[in-house]
Amino acid sequence: MSNPKTRRAQSIIKPDRDRRFVTEDNPFEAMMNRFDDAARRLNLEPGLYKVLRSPEKQIIVSVPILRDSGEIEVYTGIRVLHNTSRGPAKGGIRFDLAVTLDEVKALAAWMTWKCAVVNLPFGGGKGGVICDPTTMSAAELERLTRRYTAEIIEILGPDSDVPAPDVNTNERVMAWIMDTYSMHKGHTVTAVVTGKPVEMGGSLGRKDATGRGCLVVTKRALDRLGIPVEKAKVVVQGFGNVGSTAARLMAAEGMQVVAVSDKSGGIHDPKGLDIPKVIEWIKEHRFVEGYPGAERLTNEELLTLKCDVLVPAALENVITSKNAEKIKAKIICEGANGPTTAKADAILDKKGIFVIPDILANAGGVTVSYFEWVQDRGGYFWDEETVNERLEKIMVKAFDEVVAMAEKHQVSNRIASYMLAIDRVAAMHRMRGLYA
Ligand code: GLU
Repeated sequence: MSNPKTRRAQSIIKPDRDRRFVTEDNPFEAMMNRFDDAARRLNLEPGLYKVLRSPEKQIIVSVPILRDSGEIEVYTGIRVLHNTSRGPAKGGIRFDLAVTLDEVKALAAWMTWKCAVVNLPFGGGKGGVICDPTTMSAAELERLTRRYTAEIIEILGPDSDVPAPDVNTNERVMAWIMDTYSMHKGHTVTAVVTGKPVEMGGSLGRKDATGRGCLVVTKRALDRLGIPVEKAKVVVQGFGNVGSTAARLMAAEGMQVVAVSDKSGGIHDPKGLDIPKVIEWIKEHRFVEGYPGAERLTNEELLTLKCDVLVPAALENVITSKNAEKIKAKIICEGANGPTTAKADAILDKKGIFVIPDILANAGGVTVSYFEWVQDRGGYFWDEETVNERLEKIMVKAFDEVVAMAEKHQVSNRIASYMLAIDRVAAMHRMRGLYA
């Protein structure tokens, strides 16, 4: 839906030469592509453009740990702070073999835009350790987490950088980070991480928050498209914290969740799966594979099923120029970060699919992280009802603002969400001025 006229008139920003070699599935490229488009449309000053495209800090550390076998292994840890003009850097830490600096840079920038879309007083950061946590014992994971925390401790802090769970990390990992940081400081600092266990300063509702946010914006989108909630057929790719919660909450709301998947593949029942039963099955068997009474299908087949709502809630780059044409969903609610490539965006756009972009769709998690940080700092904790009510209010407002922006500028929801976010971050930079 881009308008070539405005594009030409506003293209003071020159294409970036460094990026001529990158490919469709480079997440930093995917982020920059949308950033460039939105920045051009906003007529962003070239100086601010340069500032906003550059991460503030990129830290790479070696993380040596003792394996249970008695051998020493050295892992690589990364933490990137993309922008902290609106507040402390906020963003998860992932433990995964696929972690790269480019990926973490993209994810950190996405956090900046995500926090700005939902108007939280946070900037964006992200971290990762290149490792395969499935091959590590709990004791090894604890040593890895504590040493990584110690290596990046200079930048951590409730006022500077506040991590949270992400791919393959959870509240137990957050508890170790909180403890390690607190030991170094000499006193307990709960607000240094979010997504902690509730007993140690975590927020009620945080675990479900990303999936709940997906539910809120999906309902809003169904309403816009005139599809009744009880008639909506939903397909969920990925059954981690985000996917499983979104599926559970959507099913509880009366939607028919017809297919779900994880690494082992997918299961499909056109009449709707019994999601609590699937969750029980996974608790016992780890994967959806073998779930009785449902048809099996691959992740690729699952993405192209006929449905009203597709929730990609796994990893980056699952909707690409290779399969976008075949997608039959009316709404895509991006539970994962970066599930759609920039090339695929154009195809989905042409097909008229209503995309709820990641930086809006999955912002429920960081929104309740914000609530957690506020509660920790205030030392006063809210009940779950209050958390969920406030989350819904923020998600609905952000959804409406993105859609209004898209209509006003005749752009996709994706570009609109970037425009909204960049505008807010840029406004902060203009007000603060440049320290030199
Ligand atoms: N990892 C989550 C995300 O990508 C949550 C980040 C946070 O709560 O800080 O949005």
